[in-house]
Parts: sequence; structure tokens; C-alpha cells
Amino acid sequence: MKSKNKEFFQQSPAPVRQVFCSRTLNLRAIRAIGYDMDYTLVHYNVAEWERRAYEHAKEHLLQGGWPVESLEFDPQLVARGLVVDTELGNVVKANRFGYVKRAMHGTRTLDFDKQREVYSRLVVELSDRRWVFLNTLFSLSEGCLFLQLVDLFDQGKISSPLGYLGLFKRIRQVLDSTHMEGRLKAEIMADPARFVCPDPEMPLALMDQKHAGKKLMLITNSEWEYTRAMMCHAFDPYLPEGTKWTDLFDVIIVSARKPDFFLSQSPLFEVVNEEGLLRPTAQGLTRGGIFWGGNASLVEAHLKLSGEEILFVGDHMWGDVKVSKSALRWRTALILRELEEDVAALGKFSPVQTKLDSLMAEKTRLEGQLTWLRLCLQRLRHRYGPPCPMSRRELDELSDEVRARLLSLDEQLAPLAQQAGELSNPLWGPLLRAGNDKSLLARQVESSADIYTSRVSNLLYCTPFAFLRSQQGSELSFIKADPLPRETDDSQPEGV
Ligand code: IMP
Ligand code: MG
Repeated sequence: MKSKNKEFFQQSPAPVRQVFCSRTLNLRAIRAIGYDMDYTLVHYNVAEWERRAYEHAKEHLLQGGWPVESLEFDPQLVARGLVVDTELGNVVKANRFGYVKRAMHGTRTLDFDKQREVYSRLVVELSDRRWVFLNTLFSLSEGCLFLQLVDLFDQGKISSPLGYLGLFKRIRQVLDSTHMEGRLKAEIMADPARFVCPDPEMPLALMDQKHAGKKLMLITNSEWEYTRAMMCHAFDPYLPEGTKWTDLFDVIIVSARKPDFFLSQSPLFEVVNEEGLLRPTAQGLTRGGIFWGGNASLVEAHLKLSGEEILFVGDHMWGDVKVSKSALRWRTALILRELEEDVAALGKFSPVQTKLDSLMAEKTRLEGQLTWLRLCLQRLRHRYGPPCPMSRRELDELSDEVRARLLSLDEQLAPLAQQAGELSNPLWGPLLRAGNDKSLLARQVESSADIYTSRVSNLLYCTPFAFLRSQQGSELSFIKADPLPRETDDSQPEGV
């Protein structure tokens, strides 16, 4: 019986499927859960979806006479959480204070000296329009195309009166049209299995929540026709017979125009037929209807709930999470699928990390000795302070010895630290880490996302009744700091 019980309660998910908690969240106090669709309830094969978006954008550029025929989408060239520097044609990774820790100009990584020359006096301030944060996996095609066009611009093959900023604006325009004009979406709707990654556990997670009494909402920026096709494909095969995806939700809002949805008083329309015909709605939101536009105040009034009772779950750092938190104080969950790769890579790396930590502890100890020796030498030289038990010569010899040991330690540390910085993505390293600190994305996650996890179905394991506690000071605790001071660290050169 005991072993049966043990098995029964063995519900904890694999580390890669954990729900991480930045701010304590009692799911029992949550009365409504709003879900974003794209890359939240419906996860896409990024290499496939983004490649097609990229290729459609490329076609637009080719039609405009740009020499881009040989360009190919590279899903590893940029990553979510990086920042485009529209002034200098770079993409950078910043730490939580906004200091640049890595940078690429075009498709070339900036070497340490160049990076320091360019960025040592600059801090990435996202409120400044110079910087564009890559908020979602939809940003990968944009970032990749930008870096590749920077190369062409530098080679004089394309012109842009506004320089790199002009290039970025052009890419925004073409990608906007790509997402809106319908050809790309038609291609995806025609063959959803090619683009959508199935997650059979997701519908069960939502059914658990619904039967636990929570009102579920779908609030997506996608248009109705596309939403219907994707939700049917991702949900209906995994629901009990006779249940459709629409039965799960109390509120369905398409073309929501987030983040404005959380800030504006935009009017609400009802979608009245399968073709997406709209009509103004007199009664506001009603259960069973499909709605278009509207705003978050209508949702709160309809549910008769306040922000603390509503959890919003989305993948867009700014549009889903930051704004719903800052404007409405809704509770928030960020979906970061890449966490799975990062957590797995960091887990595999942990024996090396342990070695790194112990070498680093030794380095810190020796550095402490060296500073003390330096002070003793200074006091001897200027004849002040308490008597020193060693002669000047002895101090010099010991300093040389400690310095030699530090040098040899650095030789051991350097390759290990380099490996740590290349985990998951050789160009940019893990998502939530930047050099020896947390990344700017990690900072955003901590400040705006109450919880974060790789996929919605991870909520299945914690049940709709869980009390999720933030672990004081150990959020992002699986992100071990890379301990070797290097590159843009502000440490002084060593030596007495
Ligand atoms: P959501 O994540 O469910 O809110 O939906 C995101 C929608 O925004 C999808 O239909 C995307 O195709 C669309 N989208 C993503 N990026 C862009 C863009 O840059 N311009 C216009 N639409 C976009
Ligand atoms: Mg989304």
C-alpha cells in the first residue's frame, strides 16, 4: 500500500517541466485564467513557422529589388530576450542592469575590445526607442533578417537613407504585412500538422482548471479564422467526445490588439458567422459568443473580478505580461518554451559547474591573499601601521607565488567558463544568464511574471489548487552565475 501511495503521489514533473515562481501565487485564489494563443496554447515548430515568415518577408524584399536571394533563415542567430541596437546595426545581450555582455554586428560577433569600445559607457534603456527588445519567438525572423541586411548594407549592396534604423523599419513593415496579409496564415491553416507541435496534455490541464471552477478566457491577437483553425487542430483531438475547444472558454476574444487591449477602451464587436462577419454588441461579453477587439475593463466587469483574481498566461514579455501586470495588476505567467533546452543543458553541465564553482572559490581566496600582501607591502614602503611579520623580500616572493597560482587557475577556468557561456546557444548562451549575471530578460521575468514555465501543460502537475511559493532569493536558482570575471566585467587588472 505504501509503495502504491508513493507511486500515486509521484506527480512531480521533470526539471525541464517545472513551474518557476517569482512571486507567491495561490492558484485557489485565482478565479479566472486568461490565455494567449500563439506560442502559448498553440506552440509552433519555430524553425518551420519562422522560416516561412522569413521567406515571405524575403519575397517582399526581392520584389522591392533588394539582393536577398541567397539569404537563409538561421533560427540560432538570435534569441528571445536580445536587444536590437537600431543605431549601430547590432544585436546585443544585456545583463539585468542593461550592461552589454555580448554583441553582434551583422552576422559577426564583436570581439571583446570592440564591444568594450562601443558599449562601455552605454546602458540599454528599453524606454529609449533606439533599443528594440525581442519579446517573443515571433521575433526570431526579424532579428535574423536584420543582422543579415546589416551585412549587405555594410557591403554597399543595399542603401538605406536612415542607415541601420531604416533597415529595421523596413523589416518591421514587411514582417507586419507578412503576418497580416493572409498568405502565410493560409499556408499554415492548410497544413497545421507541419507547423503546430502537439501537446495532448494541454486540454486536460485546462479541463482541470475549468472543473475547479475557474473561468477560462482566450484573448488572442490572431484573427478569428486563424484562431479557429489552430485551436481546432491543437485541442479537439484530445478532448472528450462531444466536447469542442470553444466549450472550454467562458470568454473568447480574437483580434484583441494586446497590449492596447490592457490599456485602451476599444469597442467590442461580436463575430457573427464563420467567415468572421462583425456586428456591434449591445450586451457586452456573453458566454458562448466569439468577440473581436474590446478591452480588459470589459473583461473585469463581465467577470466581476479584480486584478488579483485574474491570471493571464502568455508568451509575449511586453504585450502579454509586462503590460497586464503594470496597468491592471493582473497575476501573470510567462511561457518560455526555450527554458526546456536551457534547463536540460544546465543540468547536464552541473558537474562541470561544480568544478567551476570550486575553482572560483579558490580564485577568490587567492585574490584575497594577494590584496592583503599588497597592503602589507604598501605599509612597509611608507613605514606606517602595525609591524609586519615578514620582510619585504618574503612578501614579494609570496606575492609572485600567489600570482602564479592565480594564472594557472585562470587557465583552468577559461575553457570551462567559455563552455558555460555557450550552453543552449553557442552565440548567445542560456536565455536567463548574461556573462556572470542574470540577463535583461531574467530581470523582466522577475519583475513582471509571477510565474514562468516552458508550457501551459506544466500547470497540470501543480493542479489548479496549488500554493506556489517564491523561494526567497533563489528565483531563477537553476541559473548558476558564470563565475569567471571576463570580457566586460568591470574588474581591475590583477597585480600588485
Ligand atoms: P497571440 O500571441 O495569440 O496574441 O497572437 C499573435 C498574433 O500576432 C499572431 O496572429 C501573429 O501572426 C501576429 N503577429 C506576430 N508578430 C506580428 C507582427 O510583427 N505584426 C503583425 N502581427 C504579428
Ligand atoms: Mg502569443
